[in-house]
This record gives sequence, structure tokens and C-alpha cells, in this order.
Amino acid sequence: MKKVFFTAGPSQLYSTVQEHIKNALRDDILSISHRSKLFIEIFRTTTENLRSLMGIPKDHHVFFLGSATEGMERILENTVEEHSLHFVNGAFSKKFFRIAEQLGKNAKKFEADAGKGFDVREIQIPAETECICVTQNETSTGVSFPMSDIYTLKKRNKNSLLAVDVVSSAPYVNIDFNKVDLVFFSVQKGFGMPAGLGVLIVGPKAFEKAKFLFEKGVRIGSYHNFLVMEEYSRKYQTHDTPNVLGIYLLGKVCEDMLKKGIGTIRKETEEKANMIYTFFEKHEDYKLFVKDKKNRSLTMIVIETKEEVKSLLSKLSDAGFIVSSGYGAFKESQIRIANYPSTSVEDMKNLIAYFTKF
Ligand SMILES: *Cc1c(COP(=O)(O)O)cnc(C)c1O
Repeated sequence: MKKVFFTAGPSQLYSTVQEHIKNALRDDILSISHRSKLFIEIFRTTTENLRSLMGIPKDHHVFFLGSATEGMERILENTVEEHSLHFVNGAFSKKFFRIAEQLGKNAKKFEADAGKGFDVREIQIPAETECICVTQNETSTGVSFPMSDIYTLKKRNKNSLLAVDVVSSAPYVNIDFNKVDLVFFSVQKGFGMPAGLGVLIVGPKAFEKAKFLFEKGVRIGSYHNFLVMEEYSRKYQTHDTPNVLGIYLLGKVCEDMLKKGIGTIRKETEEKANMIYTFFEKHEDYKLFVKDKKNRSLTMIVIETKEEVKSLLSKLSDAGFIVSSGYGAFKESQIRIANYPSTSVEDMKNLIAYFTKF
């Protein structure tokens, strides 16, 4: 039976990925030099398509990394000499904070309970904060940080840079790149691709900060510091040998998404999210974990179950639906259903129909 992956990530492949992998093999993409004309063409096409899809301005840099976790480290190394500030309400935002500590930064945090968001109007950011770190879509709990609140944070703290993790909301999330400084994601979630590629988008102010720190003699890392990555990306290349297949596939998937239209993708995401939230809101045995509608992620739906999660997941799997368990402490009491562009309205209808049966 063909399985549909509603998992947090890696997840369901975007429908065209298999074909693109075949073409990549046919065209020797996996053997070409990363200094060749063909690679330069691939790099250029991918960054252009990504810019069109996500609305990334010309003066923002697009850098390729190994993962989103690497993005966290690179941001902290390149923009923070001492003071970072983190909004922590789940496993991934906590990871961002932990990395700052591991790098020896003076990291502060605002914490919210799992399943809850933040009231940005009540929060006072210390003036010395160099970078505010926000997880726009907390994949572990299904809590979304509204972009409007993120813009408010930036507006009120103009002297701090603002970094946004959109790993499990891109490309659905609509970002005004002129209102934030750094944005990052990896491709095995909302882009429906194999894992192993991270993307970091760096605005002019964040780039200037890296330069400033470097000139001051602060350590900003080596081969993947912003200055080295810019030097190479200007030539449509990378310093190290990159994930060529990943970069190739990302360009193709972005092209397919552009053909479909990002507006259509967003509408479908909202339609699917609406279907699944409406269904579980009324369900007797299952409860939505995120109570406040304003904070409900449309791309990660977290549900508290009454029955044993393990047996529920195994029943679902037998029916062809692969769903994630809760994260960490919620492993035994919750399930997480990803709502990425790679699953169709029909897939979501089928999943809901299955839940209706028992
Ligand atoms: C999955 C995830 C990450 C980590 O991504 P990697 O590619 O595994 O490094 C970071 N942040 C969020 C919100 C995620 O969902």
C-alpha cells in the first residue's frame, strides 16, 4: 500500500521529487564538479526560484548550509558578540537557546509553557540584546508565533537584529523580509525534500554585523561564516563541496511550486488545516493541544489522545497514514499531524475519514 507521510520531518516528498531525482541521475548531476558551469547554473536557478517563491529581496543573501540546526549556530556566531535573547516554548526554540549557551554567549530567554505563545506587548527586551531569536513555528508543540507579532518585536527593538526559524512553516508562511534580519529553514519539512540541506537568508544589517565583528577580531567561525559564504555565493558557488542534489532539487521544487502558485499552495494549506482543526475541535476523545486559536499552527497540528499513542500510530500506519508521535515528554499522550504542501486536500480528507471510523 502506498503510504502518506503526515510526519513532522522528514515527511511526504513533494509529488515531483521522484521524477527530479531520476532526471538528476540521468543528467549526471551527482558527479559534476561544484566548480563547473553546470553547477553554477544550478545554484543560480535555485536561488532565483527560491527568491521568487518566498519574495526574498535582492539585497538579502541566500546561503546553503547542512541543516537548520547549523543555521542557529551560524546566526549566533555571526551576529552576537555577547547578548542573544530567545523566546522558548518548546524543543526547537530551546535548542536555539542551548546553542547560544554552548557558544559561550550571554543568552537570555523568555519562556512560555508548552502549547502556549507569547504576549509581545508585555515583553521588555533588554537594550543590549544583539539578536532576538524566534521560532515562528514550534514543531514540538504546534504553536505558531504570528508574523505580525514578530514584526512588532522588531519595530519596538530596532537596534537588535531579529532571527526567525521557519523550518516547519516555510514556504507556507508569508514573510516580509524587510521587517526581519535573518530567516532559516531546512528542506525536509514544508518543501517535501530529502534531508541534508539548510537555507539561511541574511539581510543587510545582519551581514554588516558579521563584518563588524570580524573586523573587531571576534570569532565568527570559518568556512561557513557570512563573509566566506557571501564571497562564494556571489559567484553562485559554495566554499565547501555542497549537497548538490539538494540544491538541484530545491530549485526544481520551487519551480513546481511557482507553477502551481504560492497563493494556491497557501489556500490549500489553510483549507486542509481548517478541515482537520474543525474535525478535532468537535471530537469527544481527542483534544487540540493549542487552546488559543491565534497560536495554532496551520502546518503542525498537535492532538492529545485518550488511547495509547503507540497503538494508534500503528493502526494509522496499517491504513497507510504515517503520523508523528508527540515530542519528548508528550510522546505517550499526543500525536502530531503535519500539514505541508506535499499532502493534498484529498490526502487530508482520507485521513479524517479514517478517524471518523473509530
Ligand atoms: C526540524 C526543526 C529544526 C531542525 O532542523 P534540522 O534540519 O534537523 O537541523 C529546527 N527548528 C524547527 C522549528 C524544526 O522543526
